[in-house]
Amino acid sequence: MKVVVIGTGHVGLVTCATLASLGHEVVGVDSDESKISSLQNGLAPFFEPGLEDLVNEQMKAGRLSFTKEAAQAVPGAEVAFICVGTPARADGEANLIAVEQAARDIARHATGSLVIVEKSTVPAGTANRVRRAILHERSDLASSIHVASNPEFLREGKAVDDSLRPDRILVGAESDFAREKMRQLYEPLVDQDFPFIETDIQTAELAKHACNAFLALKISYVNALARMCERSGADVKAVATVMGSDARIGPQFLQAGLGYGGYCFPKDILAFERLATRLGYSFPLLQEVARINGEAVDATLDKIRDALWNLEDKTVALLGLAFKPDTDDVRLSPALALARRLLDEGAHVVGFDPEAQANAKSEIPELEVAPDAYECAQGAHCLVVCTDWDEFRDLDLNRIRESMNYPVVVDGRNLFDPESMRANGFTYYPTGRPAAV
Ligand code: NAD
Repeated sequence: MKVVVIGTGHVGLVTCATLASLGHEVVGVDSDESKISSLQNGLAPFFEPGLEDLVNEQMKAGRLSFTKEAAQAVPGAEVAFICVGTPARADGEANLIAVEQAARDIARHATGSLVIVEKSTVPAGTANRVRRAILHERSDLASSIHVASNPEFLREGKAVDDSLRPDRILVGAESDFAREKMRQLYEPLVDQDFPFIETDIQTAELAKHACNAFLALKISYVNALARMCERSGADVKAVATVMGSDARIGPQFLQAGLGYGGYCFPKDILAFERLATRLGYSFPLLQEVARINGEAVDATLDKIRDALWNLEDKTVALLGLAFKPDTDDVRLSPALALARRLLDEGAHVVGFDPEAQANAKSEIPELEVAPDAYECAQGAHCLVVCTDWDEFRDLDLNRIRESMNYPVVVDGRNLFDPESMRANGFTYYPTGRPAAV
């Protein structure tokens, strides 16, 4: 099938590469010229395990190409995906200008019957807007275009695997034609028995926000428990194990820590709450989820202050800068929120991340970055674990302790074992667990 993907970011590029690997002929379009030229040279513009190799493999196989011009890519396409960003406006509403622009670009160059698929995360009701925008552009397309919603559930860091082995493929369609095309598109995955769920469009749109809001809620729930445990002397890790062993609850997303970040959860919670309000339903639980998430950075900062007293002239080392492991994405990373607070209080902040150094530095130029974890810890008064990269588990803790100014570790991800930290001579502040002070 001939497929065009508008927006070649974290979702769009994975969509391009995986659909090409399923045998389709895919063209990726992006308005960012530098992104397109690096892709044309076989370079992924961001770090995602396995993605660059898959992109190159599919380009060599002649199934995948990239262009800046929708005019070159859209004519002849049978399916057009919209994978552009939907950031939060100041009031929390999703900013859908890029979705409208992409829809109008597609409309301008559409030929023949075309299914236009929202993959970007959008509030329920957006498909009607997309359809209207298309018809404003080209009223002659009324009977030949079909809108569908196919929300994306990939996780950054595991995006390729999530797309080739999805928990489910969700398709909301307005016509049998669109439903049938989407089935054909995903046939190689449907044939492998990956669940294919069909709904109406607004259900698919709403289900995506519902999933992200619920996952964020789980994280905030366990983080609120961490605050309770810190005040009562209980251990949140053990509490989460007890909760997670209940099959009705499940263990995933019950790790207390610095809170959620990244491009999706923060904005999606806000957009979902705004949607509820617009629909005349009050859903303050969602505001609470966001508020509790903000407390996680405050609680970590309190521990750093408790350990160091005054922060002026102290050096704080941050292990991990990305919003989660296996990505270089620092968008709304809690590590960077913490770095900004520490800098505001006069601390000297040094960070290390296996992949996200350059992105972090471009967001916060005052942040010093170290070439590895050991140099990051060297001379620090406090080391804070901000991102639970696997490789941090194997660090030589003796070497770290000996190189630090004060042997203080604040573990924002409960990466280390309190007993061995105590035995190693650290003053250790985990999250939601008794400190070894
Ligand atoms: P991104 O910022 O990485 O990528 C968006 C891309 O769209 C950019 O490359 C940008 O240059 C391009 N773009 C913007 N306007 C354009 C236009 N008019 N024409 C062509 N290109 C345009 O964003 P992302 O992380 O890929 O997210 C995209 C959407 O997918 C969002 O709605 C997001 O909520 C959703 N989503 C993201 C993830 C994730 O883990 N990142 C997961 C599921 C869903």
